[in-house]
Amino acid sequence: MAKKFACGDVVDGCAWSITAKDEEELFQKIAEHAKDTHNMSEIPDEILQKVKSKITDV
Ligand SMILES: [Zn+2]
Repeated sequence: MAKKFACGDVVDGCAWSITAKDEEELFQKIAEHAKDTHNMSEIPDEILQKVKSKITDV
């Protein structure tokens, strides 16, 4: 099942969102976005938990 995540659900004011074919691809894209846009070379566990809670099935 495809998965969707909107960064604005976790980071106020960020308009980026992603739809991926599975969770693995989704997290890969989120990690790239977090690094490029939010200067997070690694996503803190606290943020990761929030991200996980906001992922929806498409
Ligand atoms: Zn973002």
